[in-house]
Amino acid sequence: MRRCPKCRERVSPFYFKIACPECGADLMYYNFDERLEQDARKAAAQEEKVQGLLKKLPGRRKED
Ligand SMILES: [Zn+2]
Repeated sequence: MRRCPKCRERVSPFYFKIACPECGADLMYYNFDERLEQDARKAAAQEEKVQGLLKKLPGRRKED
């Protein structure tokens, strides 16, 4: 069941307007930034992992 991310009101799956009928929150983009942030965090975590692996590699020098 789709719910409004802001007021948690149930939104019909057949409700195709962008704004929540209850609170007017933008259903499409309300969490958009948050999702982007999560993606960024995920990417950063991944990057950290890669960097960690690279650091573990023996004999790796800066100049190569
Ligand atoms: Zn709402």
